[in-house]
Amino acid sequence: MKKTILAAAAALGLAATSAQAQPNWPTRPVTMIVPFAAGGPTDVVARIVGEHMSRTLGQQIVIENVAGAGGTTGITRAKQAAPDGYTIAMGHMGTHGAAPALYPNLRYDPAKDFEPIGVAAGTPILIVTKKDFPANSLKEFIDYVKANGAKLNEAHAGVGSVSHTTCTLLQSMIDAKFTRVAYRGTGPALNDLVAGQVDFGCDQIVNLVPQIQAGTIKAMAIATAERSASLPNVPTTKEAGLPDYQVSAWNAVFAPKGTPKEITAKLADALDKALSDENVRKRLHELGGVIPEGADRGPQGLQKLVETEVARWTPVLKAAGVTAQ
Ligand code: ASP
Repeated sequence: MKKTILAAAAALGLAATSAQAQPNWPTRPVTMIVPFAAGGPTDVVARIVGEHMSRTLGQQIVIENVAGAGGTTGITRAKQAAPDGYTIAMGHMGTHGAAPALYPNLRYDPAKDFEPIGVAAGTPILIVTKKDFPANSLKEFIDYVKANGAKLNEAHAGVGSVSHTTCTLLQSMIDAKFTRVAYRGTGPALNDLVAGQVDFGCDQIVNLVPQIQAGTIKAMAIATAERSASLPNVPTTKEAGLPDYQVSAWNAVFAPKGTPKEITAKLADALDKALSDENVRKRLHELGGVIPEGADRGPQGLQKLVETEVARWTPVLKAAGVTAQ
């Protein structure tokens, strides 16, 4: 008897979660999980593209911030959600590139457990400090951190986040040790940097441009080959003497594996339309975001990106010897 009930429940569960044609989707709001605190870079990108996608889909995209464990808590939640198109997630280079190397018990496979929808924005990394940090160039910064690392606090968004991963790389490259302070996102980390409660961080440009322009924090360098048009006065790491420190992150939309094809196609189309919209482009560009074009934008481009990023970050992070506790 018990067995029969269980079997029936399992069958029902399967029916509820399997990929079925849903020609009218979406008939209610779609939840987009942002795996970090509100106000940070992932949240900002999600809100800019999500707002336009809502208009194309004819239903609201509601952002749900599910922070914790460097973004892996929210992405695990997305993996476990019903694949019915009503839960999607904004992942990034950390959750879908770095995390497998850092979390031995990660409960998702970035390349296998999701339907890739598309890349939303490339986000170059900057090394930023509180405004009265005693360095005014990357060289001075490196010298100061090497000499005073023990008393310096670096703010990041949890093991495996972009800020954590990219500052881990910095730490091993300049051979310095500093105290690492975890936040639930770089939104709150930035607030503390502006308040001078932490000393520095490595963060995605879309979180930083207004504060750098206002002089409430300082930028030591941008870790790309070219300067950003949104911050023309900030030198590249190449110009500033650390040419091998080249790191850019990205944000991208994922749906749980098994989400029906008609739905993922509609989501990819809505994202594509958002990224072609003049106003969306202007907002992302002003924040220093890099808009993917052509084949880099859609599902295939994203799948390839995830696979190359996992392959790129795994050896780097293993060599740096970090794991999540
Ligand atoms: N992108 C994260 C956020 O939105 C932070 C990070 O990955 O460093 O807060």
